[in-house]
Amino acid sequence: MSGTGAPLLSLRGVRKSFGGTRRRGARGGVAHLVLDGVDLDLAPHSCTVLVGASGSGKSTLLRVVDLLEDVDDGQILLDGVDVADPWVDADAVRARLALVFQQYNLFPHLRVMDNLTLAPRVVHGRPRDEAEAAAEAMLAKVGLAHKARAYPDQLSGGEQQRVAIARALVGDPEVLLLDEVTSALDPALVGEVLDLLLDLRTEGTTMLVATHEMGFARDVADEVVFLHEGRVHERGTPAQVLDDPQRAATREFLRRLH
Ligand code: ADP
Ligand code: MG
Repeated sequence: MSGTGAPLLSLRGVRKSFGGTRRRGARGGVAHLVLDGVDLDLAPHSCTVLVGASGSGKSTLLRVVDLLEDVDDGQILLDGVDVADPWVDADAVRARLALVFQQYNLFPHLRVMDNLTLAPRVVHGRPRDEAEAAAEAMLAKVGLAHKARAYPDQLSGGEQQRVAIARALVGDPEVLLLDEVTSALDPALVGEVLDLLLDLRTEGTTMLVATHEMGFARDVADEVVFLHEGRVHERGTPAQVLDDPQRAATREFLRRLH
């Protein structure tokens, strides 16, 4: 892991199940344990890449970090403070993180500029000119300054995803969470989004990324974490996990990708 000092984000023994009764009770059927004691440390300016088969818990992990899902047990420490504590102001925590999904979820009826300025203006009360200046800078960074007046359906999938990433960055998050942001894209458009992520990585953005793009993982990850049935099954540098996997499930997962 690159970076020094205390981790910016840590998970300790995070457990999450869906359905059933979460604690004790007899009614409600059998709970499906999706995260089964996950530990993770993300140093400032480092990049952790989550890999694993569909259903292994990658999206759930990102969603519990963004406080979109409650955990059943364990801690999510942001700068050492447990944000999984129900007394924590979830909106304040979410303002420090940004999650971008596979489906870019842009507001279809709003121009690109308004997609970027809506939350800063409405949620954070920033004046329009200030919010637009920040949005323009972010659009320039993702190479789409000339699309500020366009509507989402006038953009390619790759451009829409770059706008979604720009929108995630306008709030100046401390950690960028990316959930398979290239999976819905036409193969020809994947490269432009990965190039953008590489730029962000070079600038030192702290990132937690779920992806099936192993070439990208190899290029950017400080640590690759292989999730299997809700557990960290294997972890290490890209060379360790991707080129010299120690466990059968990791080997099987990598073999199936080819
Ligand atoms: P991945 O992103 O690695 O494909 P997910 O985190 O989406 O995995 O899903 C892990 C498991 O949790 C899957 O079995 C999925 O069906 C289940 N799951 C995810 N979200 C929910 C939900 N809201 N309700 C019930 N089950 C869910
Ligand atoms: Mg997923």
